[in-house]
Amino acid sequence: MSDAANLDTFDRRESEVRGYIRSFPVVFDSARGSTLIAADGREFLDFFAGAGVLNYGHNNPLFTRALIEYLERDGIIHGLDMATSAKKAFIETFERLVLAPRGLDHKLQFTGPTGANAVEAALKVARLATGRSNVVAFTNAFHGLSLGGLAATGNSHYREAAGISLDNVTRLPYDGYLGEGIDTLDLFRRMLDDSGSGLDLPAAVIVEAVQGEGGINVASVEWLQRLREITEARGILLILDEIQSGIGRTGKFFAFEHAGIVPDLITVSKSISGSGLPMSLVLLRPEVDVWKPGAHTGTFRGNNLAFVSARVALEEYWADSAFTDAVNAKSELLRTELQAIADANPERGFVVRGRGLMYGLACDADPTLAGRVSAEAFRRGLVIETSGAFDQVLKFLPALTISEEALTRGLQIVRESLAAVAA
Ligand code: PLP
Repeated sequence: MSDAANLDTFDRRESEVRGYIRSFPVVFDSARGSTLIAADGREFLDFFAGAGVLNYGHNNPLFTRALIEYLERDGIIHGLDMATSAKKAFIETFERLVLAPRGLDHKLQFTGPTGANAVEAALKVARLATGRSNVVAFTNAFHGLSLGGLAATGNSHYREAAGISLDNVTRLPYDGYLGEGIDTLDLFRRMLDDSGSGLDLPAAVIVEAVQGEGGINVASVEWLQRLREITEARGILLILDEIQSGIGRTGKFFAFEHAGIVPDLITVSKSISGSGLPMSLVLLRPEVDVWKPGAHTGTFRGNNLAFVSARVALEEYWADSAFTDAVNAKSELLRTELQAIADANPERGFVVRGRGLMYGLACDADPTLAGRVSAEAFRRGLVIETSGAFDQVLKFLPALTISEEALTRGLQIVRESLAAVAA
């Protein structure tokens, strides 16, 4: 093995906390679209897309060109939260192409550049605005690993690493958690209306319209609508965490749009910059924007390079419906193919679920299967991850720009990997 492809450096010096390097143990060197190239020249098809960061593919030339031009003209790279032309252009474009067409009156809060930063800010401002501390979050939720977001996250693997108690969150069952035909919101409503329930009136409910890390669980349109009604009637703020499900991933800009609801707060990160550069924001209704100037600050709240590529992404992909039309066509192909895999293996009891290009093949009957298929697929040149409390769900998260040919090729690798693992 050439030195460039050797992983010893990471084994020797990188913390034990490293994760994805263990599932995909090669040194990646370059990438374009849905193809990753390792230092030893091997090519991999990408069905992971940086866990939802690369909705427009790796190194999309539209963004690279704009970034190079900006760098060459000495555009501002770092400006705290001062006004810059890159930020102004992003806000104006976001207002024109995202907020206005959806009738959203939300303001934009730029937070530190990770998703967890956006979640922290949303939880803090919800508590400030209501004067209440409790927040409702759902089973299998994932909201990031800083302490506020972690308290709202379900998975014990992450919770055990907190080191302190994770307070001020009440856990309730997500849609479908108790099986078909049970509306889990009956419990929430009953508890809110019963002064003996022990549930303190929450400041907010935080929810993902489609749970990504939790195993690709899709909340029904009716459930989300009912959640909006329940919260609105009681002055509880509704936070939609769109960090993974947003920016076209489910076939609409925001996943909550399928339900036609308007959240009070929306957390946005991952694919918003388009290029993969870190960037996060919270959208908040004007009446929730109770911050005092500088009350939630941070050095890296103005990644101007990210603003440049984020603006270009909106202009290129969101001026009309051509992009989402294409995503929805590929979604149909993905769903049909996955269902065919499930139908061809009835003894496995696979369940197919998802929206847009965010799909899961749940292998609950044999929770180790998804991990084994992922490892075998990697050996065959496909990067595909697992999710769910037991990593029991094979997670399909390709770039939204993937070609139908590449999508079909990747699905064929999954089929072959499944057969090889079963043999
Ligand atoms: N919220 C959701 C729904 C996520 O999927 C993630 C990350 O996967 C986060 C929050 C946390 O984002 P980050 O890892 O950038 O802190």
